[in-house]
Amino acid sequence: MAFGEFDLIDTYFTHRWPKRDDVVVGVGDDAAILAVPSDSELVIATDTMVAGVHFDHQTPARAVGHKVAAVNLSDLAAMGAEPAWLSLALTLPELDHDWLTGFSHGLREICAYYDCQLIGGDTTKGPLTVTVTAHGFVPIGAALLRDGAKPGDWVYVSGNLGDAGLALAAQQNRAEISARHYRRVLERLHFPSPRVALGQSLREIASSAIDISDGLLADLQHILKASNVGARIDVDELPLSMALIESVDADGAISYALCSGDDYELCFTVPESRRGVFDTVMARHPAKPTCIGRITNKASDLRLERNEELWQGLVERDGYDHFS
Ligand SMILES: [Mg+2]
Repeated sequence: MAFGEFDLIDTYFTHRWPKRDDVVVGVGDDAAILAVPSDSELVIATDTMVAGVHFDHQTPARAVGHKVAAVNLSDLAAMGAEPAWLSLALTLPELDHDWLTGFSHGLREICAYYDCQLIGGDTTKGPLTVTVTAHGFVPIGAALLRDGAKPGDWVYVSGNLGDAGLALAAQQNRAEISARHYRRVLERLHFPSPRVALGQSLREIASSAIDISDGLLADLQHILKASNVGARIDVDELPLSMALIESVDADGAISYALCSGDDYELCFTVPESRRGVFDTVMARHPAKPTCIGRITNKASDLRLERNEELWQGLVERDGYDHFS
């Protein structure tokens, strides 16, 4: 008997996967049945990763499994939502058991860490493509949106910026980097950490939020546009890893932090009146967001500064397609 869809689900996506009480019917019927808490709104995000576009043959299957979930959980984090359920659409050119083992391990690990249950999906034959839809909850009216930034609000980012972009550049021979730093930044490219706990902590504190998937400049512009405001960013305040600082020149490192994507950190704004609460909450938080600037009243004007003077050191390279 041929190895069919049922066998595939049973072999790779059933045993030892996390289970949640709010899943009334999960994998196995025509559709899932889910119980949404009555005091919450449902938050849904979908992302697709296509072989040859979003990852290549060098990318371990486990990383693909991790990342396709992580990028969706990052979107939920940017809304302040708590993740609950994932569904998966998997298109495979052939039945590759090694690949499926790695992929399912990567996906299961991140599901287990965030207590997410796989509630269904679909498998088809075709060019390698993985799509995940993530579902989460946010208390009614408490979601973080892009349109709430006001002049005077402070601009923050979590983590370090530019590492994933440096890894991609090194992988494509566009940057030279030591083996030690390469291992570090490659881990950031392959296994991004969605800022799920931070996003939930920012409810009732942040006035706007977005996750950084396309690079800080591109994603911050979405907040500026939606909120009809501008921003001043101090390029010397950008959080950079040792790997980035030691691998490229100073302006190059800043350029990676501003323009390269795939970091999956959060960028958000905090009103002056919420800053005390924010600092108190962050004192007990493992994430240490960095204040990088301030919102202005000049609509869609993103001004990069050093010592309050205009900074124009942006290094444009192949792969910085957000500036084309
Ligand atoms: Mg996003």
